[in-house]
Amino acid sequence: MAETRITDITRFLDEKGRIVTESTQEKNHVTYLAAIVLMSSFPAPEYPSEYIVKCRRRPNRKPCMEEIIAYVGPETDDNIIWMCPKCKDGGTISNWRGTLWDLSDFSTSVI
Ligand SMILES: [Zn+2]
Repeated sequence: MAETRITDITRFLDEKGRIVTESTQEKNHVTYLAAIVLMSSFPAPEYPSEYIVKCRRRPNRKPCMEEIIAYVGPETDDNIIWMCPKCKDGGTISNWRGTLWDLSDFSTSVI
């Protein structure tokens, strides 16, 4: 798939918010981004270890497996910025709020 730096994740979702893609490769990519959304929207500074996303790039055919760093900030227009500190893979995810993987709603809807 074309590598755009900003990925609008709703492009890959149906009206119920489920992933709809044309290829397994694309589905794997969207599932990976969804995991990053889960991790970065977790409503606490420390997320549980099962939310950690490992880098899936294979530079020089060796799995990178470094922990992905991701964050949301006002300076990022509410987009999620993610990157691998080792192989420098990374990108931006937009339109993630309100998706199935947006955990930030949990804290606000309870109040
Ligand atoms: Zn990496």
